[in-house]
Amino acid sequence: MNIAPTLELVAPDIHRLRLPLPFALDHVNCYLLRGEGGWTLLDTGLHTPEGWQGWLAAFDQLGIEPGDVEQIVLTHVHPDHYGMAGALQAWTGNAAPVRMSVATDQAAEAIWRSPAESWLDETSAYLRCNGLEASFLESVLQSMRGMRAAVRPHPERVEIFASGDGLSLGNRHFRAISAQGHADDQCVFYDEADRLLLCGDQVLMRITPNVGSWPTTPANPLGRFLADLRHLRRLDVGLALPGHRREIEDFAGRIDELLAHHQKRLNAIRQAIPADGASTLEIARRVFPMESFTPHEIRFAVAETLAHLEHLLEEGQVVQEEREGTWLFLPRL
Ligand SMILES: [Zn+2]
Repeated sequence: MNIAPTLELVAPDIHRLRLPLPFALDHVNCYLLRGEGGWTLLDTGLHTPEGWQGWLAAFDQLGIEPGDVEQIVLTHVHPDHYGMAGALQAWTGNAAPVRMSVATDQAAEAIWRSPAESWLDETSAYLRCNGLEASFLESVLQSMRGMRAAVRPHPERVEIFASGDGLSLGNRHFRAISAQGHADDQCVFYDEADRLLLCGDQVLMRITPNVGSWPTTPANPLGRFLADLRHLRRLDVGLALPGHRREIEDFAGRIDELLAHHQKRLNAIRQAIPADGASTLEIARRVFPMESFTPHEIRFAVAETLAHLEHLLEEGQVVQEEREGTWLFLPRL
């Protein structure tokens, strides 16, 4: 973790707090929105000592006392966004509600609060179907243990909103818009009057949002991601504030680049499928430089390859067969 927390004014009454993450992607952006009724904190960072110090320093710098926080709002359930929601709520003496979409609350229950055993069978079946050895289960468990420790404590007071709802965050009025594919529960927030979008991880600069098919992901996440990008592209956005990297000025242009990237990758994956078929893992090996990958990175590459294969399947470009418990993908001739 080599980046220091930084606080920067990025729009009138909106401060961006950049917190360190112990991953290859080494930071996450949280936002503090000033309002007459108090401050809104948007997304929270992974619960690490460095991240927590970052929040305390930001509160100190902006003169925010525990009673000044009106609410804590989340875009999605991933640990770098959900992680410190409970700790921040506790800091306010449990006065500030943590607000999230219905689907984020359900996902938090399934991923972070349910006993680990409840998804072991599902995960084992997923690894086998995609050609990964049973030994990968240990790496899954290890990373889940680490992540679960970094999202505690859980918030005690949760308030739910639905996509389409209007929300006041700081002094601005936003509409929550469901954004599928990166995290299926994700909501982004659109302030039409100011052409401002708080876009979570749906659109990012320089890196492409991860779109993977995991054991509990509903069918064809990539198809839903691409459809949502086309939908979001129609919004009139002057400035988008994302969960990682810098702010986005040409929102529609960045979406066009992401659409083109996935089209290219779909073509590459389609071409990597041998005539007699291959497993998700074998296809991923032909597309990603997997020799240098950690088990964690291999799982992400496989999940991303599977998301592309599912989309090709839906488009009728590939067929899927099961052979001895492993899925084989074949080109449709
Ligand atoms: Zn993120």
